[in-house]
Amino acid sequence: MEVVFKNVTKRYGKTVAVENLNLTIASGALHFLLGPSGCGKTTTLRMLAGLENVTEGQILFDGKDVTKSPAAERGIGMVFQNYALWPHMTVLKNIEYGLKLRGLSKEELQERVTEVLQITQLVRFADRLPGQLSGGQQQRVALARALAIRPNVLLLDEPLSNLDAKLRHEMRDNISRIHKQTGITTVYVTHDQKEALSMGTNISVMHAGSLIQTAPPRELYNNPRSPFVAGFIGETNLISGTFAGSDNKISGGMHRVETDLGWIDVSRKIGSYKVGDKVIVSIRPEAIELALISKPGDTNCFDVTLNYLTYLGESEQLQLNRGDTLIRATLFNATNHGLTDGDGARIRIPEASALILPPDDQLGAGT
Ligand code: ATP
Repeated sequence: MEVVFKNVTKRYGKTVAVENLNLTIASGALHFLLGPSGCGKTTTLRMLAGLENVTEGQILFDGKDVTKSPAAERGIGMVFQNYALWPHMTVLKNIEYGLKLRGLSKEELQERVTEVLQITQLVRFADRLPGQLSGGQQQRVALARALAIRPNVLLLDEPLSNLDAKLRHEMRDNISRIHKQTGITTVYVTHDQKEALSMGTNISVMHAGSLIQTAPPRELYNNPRSPFVAGFIGETNLISGTFAGSDNKISGGMHRVETDLGWIDVSRKIGSYKVGDKVIVSIRPEAIELALISKPGDTNCFDVTLNYLTYLGESEQLQLNRGDTLIRATLFNATNHGLTDGDGARIRIPEASALILPPDDQLGAGT
């Protein structure tokens, strides 16, 4: 089932919870809504489910306008962070409960319950009460109950936030597997970028009621359209500067930015700029190299001071300073450079790994 939000706005009095949302959720996708607290994720999910009225705009299911359809007619399965199971009913009864309201025959009911117990790997827990299950198992019961109705769309609202780190990992794998197995269009709300990057077919990043960017995980990480997205999806160094021109004789084009670090040459940019425009250069920590042997004429090399080094085995995290500018670098497989806190060092920023972005205040809404 394809879901389309067309110019959807939701206001609570003067608060604009969601502003002019235009978004297509492809049929069969595992689509994430990601953003900080209060950005409008849950409101979007609730409008999709029909639990919240839309102030303006339309919601379409496979092209059909469902904006005014009641929740019960939309065929939505929902899973929340608090599992919302009936404590006095066994796993089996909890799953059957939603189905009984739908007037299914006994055989059909049995078939569906068996199917979802298998998918969620809960067969051996069917006769237990929720209180006799772990958090992860309870969440699987909630998932089984939502799947049993064979929903058009499955909505998951922070389903893993009550679980500890190990169970969260396990449930991530479970949800991905179940999604692949069932192919149900799934919309998943979270503020955890790792969850979204590791599982999503598409991610929509929201900020203050607006959709900022929608893209598959790799695209979002490598080509964020704004400093906000670059900083929210993974870690990055955001260095303010002024656009100083382009050299289009270099294949693919090279652009120069004047910053507190010095000139930075960058081969990738989002947007068009004139000389003098304010821009931000985004450089991922893992893109920065130690320039142990640098030659005169090497570009994008900067002398820095090592403030603090954290050794993590497979990687090292370096906090570096040049004047007031702080730069974070992550080195994988670093050679034995022998640097300790307080030493001078030289770094290089590869031209193709940096990205010129517009400042966030010039950001338009939605994609
Ligand atoms: P969180 O991650 O904290 O759950 P969220 O991104 O899901 O946040 P929403 O719950 O959608 O955010 O809220 C978006 C905005 O709308 C917030 O400013 C919130 O205070 C406001 N809001 C949400 N529900 C209501 C309501 N029933 N009445 C008034 N304002 C509301």
